[in-house]
Amino acid sequence: MTIPALAPTHHPALAAADPELAALVGAEERLQAETLRLIPSENYVSAAVLEASGTVLQNKYSEGYPGRRYYEGQQVVDQVERLAADRARALFGVDHANVQPYSGSPANLAVYLAFARPGDTVMGMALPMGGHLTHGWGVSATGSWFRGVQYGVRRDTGLIDYDQVRELALKERPKVLFCGGTALPRTIDFAAFAQIAEEAGAVLVADIAHIAGLVAGGAHPSPAPYADVVSTTTHKTLRGPRGAMLMCREQHAKAIDKAVFPGLQGGPHNQTTAAIAVALHEAAAPSFREYAHQVVANARALADGLLARGFDLVSGGTDNHLVLVDLTSRDVPGKTAAKALDRAGIVVNHNTVPFDPRKPFDPSGIRVGTPSLTSRGLRTEHMDAVAGWIDRSVTAARTGDEAALAAVRAEVAELTAAHPAPGLPV
Ligand SMILES: *Cc1c(COP(=O)(O)O)cnc(C)c1O
Repeated sequence: MTIPALAPTHHPALAAADPELAALVGAEERLQAETLRLIPSENYVSAAVLEASGTVLQNKYSEGYPGRRYYEGQQVVDQVERLAADRARALFGVDHANVQPYSGSPANLAVYLAFARPGDTVMGMALPMGGHLTHGWGVSATGSWFRGVQYGVRRDTGLIDYDQVRELALKERPKVLFCGGTALPRTIDFAAFAQIAEEAGAVLVADIAHIAGLVAGGAHPSPAPYADVVSTTTHKTLRGPRGAMLMCREQHAKAIDKAVFPGLQGGPHNQTTAAIAVALHEAAAPSFREYAHQVVANARALADGLLARGFDLVSGGTDNHLVLVDLTSRDVPGKTAAKALDRAGIVVNHNTVPFDPRKPFDPSGIRVGTPSLTSRGLRTEHMDAVAGWIDRSVTAARTGDEAALAAVRAEVAELTAAHPAPGLPV
């Protein structure tokens, strides 16, 4: 499918130098403008964040940390990195922030490097239960270089079983205990995890990659008082560039910094650091608090709309930005549903559900979230329509009704046209 560019002249230098690539960028702009993006780990950054990430900071090498670099010419870069780190500390209420990790996965690898040795036991939530690859899952380096022990959720409630986590932690004595995940629709009890980590003698890492924006906006409790280390991406609900941060108590600052550089990385991506600084500035504004609460209100409304249409939701609903839908009772595999939804202009991802009888590559569920919809100004009153479109598309996926998908797509286009997304050329 070729998608005509939204505004082919929006990037004039690029269009002149490389029309082929410029056309692809234009096509992606159009796709992001005209679809309802429900992948909970995605968002729309502001035009300001986008501009900051495309600056000449791109051109500078700055291995080391502000005031302690291995290259000269850091008069400006040091200030950029200090600004980003200061804003992170203020926003999340932490002693120390390292803004250099290239992304969430390398950030987590740095945590292992700081606190564990190969072969040590580490513990996190199992990937098929809603955890992340980097929490010690087998196919990840974190699960093959370390001995990954995994916890899950209860079959009857879909909720984390803190008694099971405690039992496992006391038996296995992991060096590092991760909490957080990628498909957890409920509030994480950081205090309970801290208690368990203390009893087990583990370093507690709160991986808030998905919910960082909710935490910053006061729509999810903060791990800062409880976790030894807080790991986060900056590009999900926090609405910054693709990047990550590691935040910690003063006692761990040296170990974390050393693990990121020189332990794992070379020069930081200064254009990303600049964009992180901008995103943190935006996230400190009162309007971001409203945004974070609206994300949650929208997710609840979307969950209600899906429940009203007979969908099964893991844990029965949501406290945060995402909903995990188990399609077993609808007799449609997750991937078939996700592909049909894509044809209807609604972008989701297929996802395993806890205790999924199907294979991870074609699991039983889909994962939907509201960060992107909320960034384009949609509110609770729009969510019932979205739930209705999901319902019609899932039914059409089962019956192979392409006309029904086209009809949904036309209705989606009307809504997206009325609510333009931030950061895109209009
Ligand atoms: C997204 C995510 C990561 C990894 O981030 P990448 O930037 O994709 O490497 C790590 N942990 C959690 C919980 C995540 O959701």
